[in-house]
Amino acid sequence: MAENKDNKMEKLVSLAKRRGFIFQSSEIYGGLNAAYDYGPLGVLLKNNLKQLWWRKFVTERADMVGLDSAIIMHPKVWEASGHIQNFSDPLVDCKQCRRRWRADHLLAGDGAKPGYDKEKPLAEEVKCPTCGGELTTARQFNLMFETRMGPVTDEGVTVYLRPETAGGIFVNFKNVVDTMRQRVPFGIGQIGKAFRNEITTENFIFRTREFEQMEIEYFVHPDHWQESFAEWLQMMRDWCGWIGLPADKVQEAEISEKDRAFYSQRTIDFQFQYPFGQEELYGLAYRTDYDLQQHQKYSGQDLVYTDPITKEKYVPHVIEPSLGVDRSVLAVLLSAYTEIEGGRSTTTTAIKDSEVVLKLPYYLAPITVAVLPLSNKETLAPLASDVFNTLRTVFSTQYDATGSIGKRYRRQDEIGTPFCVTVDFESLEDKAITVRDRDTMAQERVAISEIVDYITGKLPRI
Ligand SMILES: [Zn+2]
Repeated sequence: MAENKDNKMEKLVSLAKRRGFIFQSSEIYGGLNAAYDYGPLGVLLKNNLKQLWWRKFVTERADMVGLDSAIIMHPKVWEASGHIQNFSDPLVDCKQCRRRWRADHLLAGDGAKPGYDKEKPLAEEVKCPTCGGELTTARQFNLMFETRMGPVTDEGVTVYLRPETAGGIFVNFKNVVDTMRQRVPFGIGQIGKAFRNEITTENFIFRTREFEQMEIEYFVHPDHWQESFAEWLQMMRDWCGWIGLPADKVQEAEISEKDRAFYSQRTIDFQFQYPFGQEELYGLAYRTDYDLQQHQKYSGQDLVYTDPITKEKYVPHVIEPSLGVDRSVLAVLLSAYTEIEGGRSTTTTAIKDSEVVLKLPYYLAPITVAVLPLSNKETLAPLASDVFNTLRTVFSTQYDATGSIGKRYRRQDEIGTPFCVTVDFESLEDKAITVRDRDTMAQERVAISEIVDYITGKLPRI
């Protein structure tokens, strides 16, 4: 069983590369460990996912605004947030083979929870998982990427690549209140890159040192945090459904008091059943007023909010739904990946290899429509081009004229394209084309003049 599961991960990594979704970074130089590049189809999928998030979590809500803050911030931001002092993982070295491990990961089998029980010392009997060698005692290793700002290396100021996008939101709280006339409760959403110098990286795009986040800081009156927490919890559940994650693959884990960050009064982790195990996907935390209080203290600025109607003054509390873009992409691809043994065609009895269909939600698919002229003959090309040019002004569209029609359908199925339209010789006469649906394989003849409306009507609205 485990072998089978590993296999799915391998197959997905191979498909992602073969079809232009995700490449190893700097591959022609031998690759950079745990760094990945999104290829032409990967960036389309990732953008669709981010746009969906932005629309559902920001623009469709009257109580939300957006932000795009700088990656490099004033170093004091990270003093205030506690990242400089506390954002570290326990690192142990193997005295024999020199491999490095995260101590809390080695404890996972010992009933400890990775990521939480960071202080728990390693028992003597815990040895190097690779060679069985003795391990050093754990030392704390700060996960922030450090760099120097300014043209002269020794005179510059030490700055950090942000370890999370949240910091940029908190330091702009006052700017947003002053300029946008938002009344609490309201939230600020941001999508952006974050960087963590992880001791260990693993499982493709699951844990990488450079990653992208979709984060919200939702500011509430301290008496009303429970309502907002419940609302965002439901929103995150809905989101998992919108991006096609099967309900039985997603688990919510209530993080116990001793495992939570000291300032958090409630945290729920969303976990997903990846082929390599049940691991974190998203997080929802009630952070109290910790962040704004800290920034008030370190910046010396007044971050007290005055309610415009009641005139009550207080430092707002915060609910934080935090979603990883790359983990979303991985979970979406794993959920969509479907293998059909013996192939999909029912018109032939010949035994074929298994075929792959990426059953992505239609609105996430990198390509919405593929235009496939049935024959390479010159006579079909002008009409097929016309159809392509019409469709691509509205949908993400690909033109594919190489290979047999069966091969082309298979290629489109593998990248999750919901609709294939074939232009045939009859099309020249009846000005109609055949539309094939990815999931049902049903084919319908549609007038070329109606094709845009037809496909628009088939795309689910959420
Ligand atoms: Zn070792």
